Amino acid sequence: MSTLRFKAVEEAFSHKAVHVDAPEQMTSEYYGKYVFNRKQMAKYLSKETMNTLCDAIDKGVLIDRNVANKVAAGMKMWAVELGATHYTHWFQPLTDGTAEKHDSFIEYKSEPGGDIIEEFSGKILVQQESDASSFPNGGIRNTFEARGYTAWDPSSPAFVIDDTLCIPTVFISYTGEALDYKTPLLKSLSAVDKAATDVCHYFDTKVNKVFSYLGWEQEYFLVDECLYSARPDLALTERTLMGHESAKNQQLEDHYFGAIPLRVQAFMKELEFEAYKYGIPAKTRHNEVAPNQFELAPIFGETNLSVDQNLLIMTLMRRVARRHNFRILLHEKPFSGINGSGKHCNFSLGTDTGVGLFTPGKNSEENLRFVTFLVNTLMAVYKNNSLLKASIMSANNAHRLGANEAPPAIISVFLGSQISSILDTLEVSDSKEAIIVDEKKNMRLGVAHIPEVLIDNTDRNRTSPFAFTGNRFEFRAVGSSANCSSAMIALNAVVAAQLKEFKVSVDEKIAAGETKEKAIFDVLKQYIKESKPIRFDGNGYSDEWKEEAEKRGLDCETSVPLIFDAYTKKESIALFADTNVFSEKELFARNEVKWEIYTKKIQIEARVLGDLAMNYIIPVATRYQSVLLDNVYKIKALYDSKKATALSSMDSALIEEIADHIVGIKTNVDAMIEARKCANKIESEREKAIAYHDTIVPYFDIIRMHIDKLEMVVDNEVWPLPKYRELLFIN
Ligand code: ADP
Ligand code: MG
Repeated sequence: MSTLRFKAVEEAFSHKAVHVDAPEQMTSEYYGKYVFNRKQMAKYLSKETMNTLCDAIDKGVLIDRNVANKVAAGMKMWAVELGATHYTHWFQPLTDGTAEKHDSFIEYKSEPGGDIIEEFSGKILVQQESDASSFPNGGIRNTFEARGYTAWDPSSPAFVIDDTLCIPTVFISYTGEALDYKTPLLKSLSAVDKAATDVCHYFDTKVNKVFSYLGWEQEYFLVDECLYSARPDLALTERTLMGHESAKNQQLEDHYFGAIPLRVQAFMKELEFEAYKYGIPAKTRHNEVAPNQFELAPIFGETNLSVDQNLLIMTLMRRVARRHNFRILLHEKPFSGINGSGKHCNFSLGTDTGVGLFTPGKNSEENLRFVTFLVNTLMAVYKNNSLLKASIMSANNAHRLGANEAPPAIISVFLGSQISSILDTLEVSDSKEAIIVDEKKNMRLGVAHIPEVLIDNTDRNRTSPFAFTGNRFEFRAVGSSANCSSAMIALNAVVAAQLKEFKVSVDEKIAAGETKEKAIFDVLKQYIKESKPIRFDGNGYSDEWKEEAEKRGLDCETSVPLIFDAYTKKESIALFADTNVFSEKELFARNEVKWEIYTKKIQIEARVLGDLAMNYIIPVATRYQSVLLDNVYKIKALYDSKKATALSSMDSALIEEIADHIVGIKTNVDAMIEARKCANKIESEREKAIAYHDTIVPYFDIIRMHIDKLEMVVDNEVWPLPKYRELLFIN
């Protein structure tokens, strides 16, 4: 009897919804309480210091040590009042999480025999030294220059978690290369600001700055923590490496937007309180398609801040989940046979004059600007489709992409019929009138008391990895556990490079005597023609699309380690150098890290799968087989041979079936271990990752198939691991 599994199931089903007290204040009163935002700054900093800090935030003006000291003093006072005793530089190494090293505020007073005081100087606020060798660095670090530095990013506000003041920082090596996501993200934002502002000047000279906006939609699974702890694969890899599909899963489509289970509702409620305390504008919550799958989306914000908020919310989710006896799974594909989780990244650009550059206008002037930014983005995605794919690819996300549930592993753009037809008209016309976009169409329902409903002028196509949705692009291929920065760095950089190129072409035509408008039209028309292969409004899951995309010359590579090569192609190196986002050295180093992480993830999964197969599954299967053998033996002792054969035929068949699967597991686990031994001898990180992809990953499905078949025949009473039907349905 598998006591562990049954005990876990019993405990899981005894968990009730945890009562969550609503805060006594209104949301707006405690919103952002734990963030050193402008409201708090005004209370703790002098007007002069506050102004200098705001200039640093808004205009990138450097802060000198004197001001840093004053900011640090105010920040410390605020943090201590909230109960902080420690501080940390909070940064984003290349691991998809965040890192922090906590130091206490305490220092000895400088005079001899001095007391302990709380100390936090501008020097500590601005910069810290940290050992770069403990974080992925892709060989950038030599032992004599193992130092790395974290440096304060004033554009993202500090916050207090528990007893610790967290200061968002960048993380760079002694030699100045980025070892994190934030540094290149900030560079890409500044590149797109510059390039887009220049292009905006064709339409409005008053624009001084263009902001890049991000609105993420975080999908996740919840699992009861008792069941989670009885699944070593979940605990060690965040995904189930085995498990037969539940008879019921998402076929009835009864989960999506269904009533949220009470336990989950309590979790969400508390998570939202937490989010608001940290100034994260959580707006939407709902069930997702798969059982136990949910989504949280905030109101969009400036990209740098929005990324930090997403990383913070992932931390908060993990903590809050524990208080509700849940574990949160942010893995892209925790369960096979049902949908995985993504993190749609809604991307748009907007000016400091308040104009959304992807928002259709009200007249042909405004629409020329709209079409300019739309078509340039289209062109950027077309030319860099392999790079954008590389930016979202990982060992985890590979399970999701290309499966019939998530964006395909081919990047294409969905524009919707209305925008498509505008571009088609524009392509063959010289008239501005071609780009008058109908305001949102009105639809009358013809039912009394129900007001007119506005139809969004973009249709929805859920199979597209990159879709235009009315006033923004939605990059849907991003994985749920990823740092959005990776995708946002690539996207902002390619759009910046494209806008620069556009400006050069238009200016050349103007210099040759064309009017500005005609010059813009001409270049756009050429782009519309050229970028056609990236436009696809059909079913991205179909096999025909794979063939068609190949013909169109889009990147169809599916091997994760090879997809990363897109970063070090000649064109990519030039693009990143031109936009000042990555140096060539950084690109190569970061790919080393990507390959290394890929290999390690597959290696861990292979080990866990092998271990569980050999010491959880085979022993149980063998024991059950021997029960059957015993039965056959006894039947044979009691009955004459003919009758005995008839009576024991089912058991005998089962014994053979079990034996076949046991042999199947054993031989494949052995072969997988051998393949690992070979792969581990390879020196090059790239080649090693390719070997793991080509020679180790294929065993996962074979071994799993044998185990899942055994799960269906072995006595339920003795099966050791919680089954899908237990994991996936929260009571
Ligand atoms: P859906 O699931 O239909 O895509 P959601 O409401 O779940 O829509 O999420 C939409 C996301 O897009 C939210 O995070 C929202 O803040 C964001 N968003 C809306 N407008 C913009 C915009 N102009 N730029 C960036 N993000 C936006
Ligand atoms: Mg969406």
